[in-house]
Amino acid sequence: MKVDYLIVGAGFTGATLAERLASIGKRVLVVDRRDHIGGNAYDEHTEDGILVHRYGPHIFHTNSKKVFAYLSRFTEWRPYFHRVQAVVEGKAVPLPFSLATLRALFSERVADKLEEKLIARYGYGARVPILKLKEEEDPDLRFLAEYVYRNVFEGYTLKQWGVRPEELSPSVTGRVPVLVSYDTRYFQDAYQAMPKEGYTALFRRMLAHPNIKLLLKADWKEVEGEVRFDRLIFTGPIDEFFGYLYGPLPYRSLHFRLERHSVAWFQEVGTVNYPNEYPYTRVTEFKHLTGQAYLPHTLLCYEYPEAYESGRNEPYYPVPKEENEERYRLYLEEARKLKEVYFAGRLGDYRYYNMDQAVARALKLFEEIAHG
Ligand code: FAD
Ligand code: UDP
Repeated sequence: MKVDYLIVGAGFTGATLAERLASIGKRVLVVDRRDHIGGNAYDEHTEDGILVHRYGPHIFHTNSKKVFAYLSRFTEWRPYFHRVQAVVEGKAVPLPFSLATLRALFSERVADKLEEKLIARYGYGARVPILKLKEEEDPDLRFLAEYVYRNVFEGYTLKQWGVRPEELSPSVTGRVPVLVSYDTRYFQDAYQAMPKEGYTALFRRMLAHPNIKLLLKADWKEVEGEVRFDRLIFTGPIDEFFGYLYGPLPYRSLHFRLERHSVAWFQEVGTVNYPNEYPYTRVTEFKHLTGQAYLPHTLLCYEYPEAYESGRNEPYYPVPKEENEERYRLYLEEARKLKEVYFAGRLGDYRYYNMDQAVARALKLFEEIAHG
């Protein structure tokens, strides 16, 4: 077989590139070692009809009009604002930590004072990373920072990553800032919605182009010698591609435990985080996300973080910290030496991308290779 592009990985990165290249007449072969399309965004129905995200709950949100418009070609949407609670001192309170959280945990007098100080210091609507708040000199704001750090971030981050918040790039905890507002949504992006028929249906439409061939249950190594191609796009782990030449890049993994309940609803919001107790970090009730309110039963997903071991579990999260970035840069140098081979995606770029960022990156790469 001869194609113009061989794309390794059928997740958001690979599917976007395949669709774009096919649309300009290129012949594309997409291979994935899993037995399904969609990468980590893959979803499927259980026997009793609940739509489940096999690799953990995925909520779509973006500020990019371009990305939203692009994906809208392949799906209708169901508006959905994700809400998260964190259990702090035995009480379920809104997360991100906002002015509403302040009121839920402190007396009116204390909450009034802290609210006034936060607004005066940062302005209403500000998003303050916890590690930045911790540098405050004002004793009241310091008190608040320590409180939020201890009750929301420290234990959760230790569970999720196996290290303390300071040992990671500040961008990690910065994803969930202290919000100087009464917005109790987990995300504040301009576009927040779930694909109406799920992610897999969206991917099926993306990959339906006649110029795209799909080969599942096939590792890139197996097809490398069998298929002729002009260019290769690799969205798997970049360190694996180079045979771990500079040593493995660290990843964090998870395992998921599903729990079925014969009640219509189990919890008030989509996700409840447990920063301070239990070995799991959070519990998500899929029905909130997918809108299957009509079902009489429900399914929960418990997330248990664990070390990544090649061949045993999945490399879900790149670990953003300086020493890993340095090692990644060595691989990037190798990548630059290869003509007609491109790396992209959460694993190919070793970047903690959300789905929309993976799509944005793929659209940009398409522009570069199609017109460059
Ligand atoms: P992937 O989806 O990982 O796809 C890569 C594909 O390449 C995989 O299918 C893999 O099997 C295949 N592959 C790798 N190596 C090879 C090989 N050698 N041969 C053949 N195939 C190979 N993002 C959000 O926006 N919102 C969320 O709520 C959200 N929640 C998440 C929750 C969890 C638990 C995780 C892990 C991620 C979450 N994400 C979320 C991030 C989202 O999953 C990623 O942004 C997105 O999947 C990245 O797409 P990708 O195509 O780059 O990578
Ligand atoms: N985080 C935390 N406590 C929480 C929620 C998040 O400490 O209750 C930190 C933690 O380090 C986590 C990071 O913020 O890994 C990013 O959280 P997010 O919910 O964005 O993680 P993801 O959904 O990508 O797993």
